[in-house]
Amino acid sequence: MNMLDVLKIREDFPILKRKINGKPLVYFDNAATSQTPLAVIDAIVDYYSNYNSNIHRGVHTLSQEATDAYEMARKKVQEHFNAKHSYEIILTSGTTHSINIVATGFTNLLSKGDEIIVSALEHHSNIVPWQMLCERAGAVLKVIPMNLEGELVMDVYEQLLSDKTKLVFVNHISNALGTINPIEKIIHKAHKVGAAVLIDGAQSCPHIKPDLQALDVDFYVASAHKLCGPTGVGLLYGKEEWLNKLPPYQGGGEMIDQVTFEKTTYAGLPHKFEAGTPNICGGIAFGVALDYMNAIGFDTIAAYEKELLEYGTEKLLEIEGLKIYGTSKNKTSVISFNIGDIHPYDIGSIVDKLGVAVRTGHHCAQPIMDFYKIPGTVRASFSFYNTKEEIDILVEAVKKAKMMLS
Ligand SMILES: *Cc1c(COP(=O)(O)O)cnc(C)c1O
Repeated sequence: MNMLDVLKIREDFPILKRKINGKPLVYFDNAATSQTPLAVIDAIVDYYSNYNSNIHRGVHTLSQEATDAYEMARKKVQEHFNAKHSYEIILTSGTTHSINIVATGFTNLLSKGDEIIVSALEHHSNIVPWQMLCERAGAVLKVIPMNLEGELVMDVYEQLLSDKTKLVFVNHISNALGTINPIEKIIHKAHKVGAAVLIDGAQSCPHIKPDLQALDVDFYVASAHKLCGPTGVGLLYGKEEWLNKLPPYQGGGEMIDQVTFEKTTYAGLPHKFEAGTPNICGGIAFGVALDYMNAIGFDTIAAYEKELLEYGTEKLLEIEGLKIYGTSKNKTSVISFNIGDIHPYDIGSIVDKLGVAVRTGHHCAQPIMDFYKIPGTVRASFSFYNTKEEIDILVEAVKKAKMMLS
């Protein structure tokens, strides 16, 4: 494993040179979206400058170049996540879109009284589509509870599982707290009762390279914009047998085999789920982002981010009255905190004046905030291009905010 040369890496990210309110930008909102390296920006400029064209239907050179690049990106995604077949990779507009394809597709695969299990640590995009599915199908939603450390209570999970359980949906890493959930165990236990499992990898994919075949997971979803790619593109992985069972999500061009007014037959995988013109440039840039991150190496990234997490946790806890939410030993570089009764929004606004970008609020995970009986938190999330010096700036900014607000 290589050591990470953070100063060299920072040169790859033009936005990190920005000033905010006259101060150097300190970007700690990586759990919401990551920044974009030059390689990815260049790929986007290259696409629109040199071979912008619609894919899969043109005989002309530009269309063939765009199609080849897009299908090459799908192959890169397949290899990165280690799916068995490239047609098991559906390129979508992102995690939310991917989840909705599965949740809608299950409507007719469930019967009244069937059960779906989600976890207390979910993002809203992994709660609401299942509630809507339960309403349509007459199924029942069960929730794996969490403990004060922000970990799932696995004993209760095992009690919730039964032959009524048809689906289990859990995120790999909580975006609000950073907890890494024991997905291997969750998948294994669900399969024992014959339930399918969807893992939301949106928050884990920037830190951990998953092996989908080894995990034996049925569905996996993620967004490119959280791992140095552009917004508006992501993936839905499904095992071939599952993708064949699910009906198409949207009708339109690209997803058909034969169309007549009497009957339309659908295209095979992956096109059955890719109606209309996709985000061609975004897909290509997604592939470039994966190349970029793999060149640094996920083990190198994880080791460096662990250092940042330990340093940040130690320094922030030196501030009197500061409480960190999410204290699992098994977590990534996310620190969610509050100071006394000070509203997180007020802290966020003051540190922004000092150039520091953090997220404040419920982080699309209101049930977690309800559990702790708080309106929200301040969340600092670190990436491999952040430094300890930036954490020092954050700590000083939070101290200043505390002084002004208490
Ligand atoms: C960001 C995120 C999502 C939503 O991703 P979109 O790109 O907004 O669709 C879902 N789940 C988790 C855990 C996330 O971090």
